[in-house]
Amino acid sequence: MTDVSSDYAYLAANWASVRERVDAACRAAGRDPSEVSVLPVSKTFGPEVVRAAMALGLKRFGENKVQEVRGKAEALAGEGVEWVVIGHLQTNKAKDVARLASEVQSLDRIELADALHKRLQAEGRAIDVLIEVKTSPEESKHGLPADQLPAFLDALRAYGTLRVRGLMTLAVQSDDPRAVRACFRQLRELRDAAKAQGYELPRLSMGMSGDFPLAIAEGATEVRIGTAIFGRRDVTHV
Ligand SMILES: *Cc1c(COP(=O)(O)O)cnc(C)c1O
Repeated sequence: MTDVSSDYAYLAANWASVRERVDAACRAAGRDPSEVSVLPVSKTFGPEVVRAAMALGLKRFGENKVQEVRGKAEALAGEGVEWVVIGHLQTNKAKDVARLASEVQSLDRIELADALHKRLQAEGRAIDVLIEVKTSPEESKHGLPADQLPAFLDALRAYGTLRVRGLMTLAVQSDDPRAVRACFRQLRELRDAAKAQGYELPRLSMGMSGDFPLAIAEGATEVRIGTAIFGRRDVTHV
């Protein structure tokens, strides 16, 4: 038997360092560190790496490709991993998502809600979902246009299998921290506006390895961290 702990010692160190930096960002923002959780993003890393991360007490893992979830879920069947889908989803992937995912953070359109709901009904399951909102102008970014959020929330009432828990966004890629922070602020303001309309959306998933302190300052309840925990990904993978 190989000694997993020595092969993956860097994971424990990275994890401790990330959690420390998240806690420091919370304190700097006058927030209690217990308010902010870290979602490890394991995309591109194999099941053996996920298993090593589980040995650190991690259980939920973010993935952006359903195909990849399929492979890892099979390799780690029965080990209690909760797969969180954070990437853009095509409706033809709804069946696998309904079968394998514990949560979807990239719900951004009604056709997808419809497809997921039908498949979840067939599976007899309900899952937590976050609505991905587009807060940056980049063409490459997905997400619901912000002005459509009230109507979308209203429409989602019809889907009993989708428990809407909050909002998710990716900030603009920019060297200007004010531009990045404005994206996070917009998500928080959308949450506050929705609350005034009677929608409880306690979770704000925003912030990644390069920008999480700004997200925490704007109220993130969850940061999605890949590189800072698992290391650099193959550059050809987006
Ligand atoms: C890859 C990814 C992350 C993590 O990015 P890092 O910069 O590696 O921390 C977070 N959110 C989404 C949606 C991603 O696809």
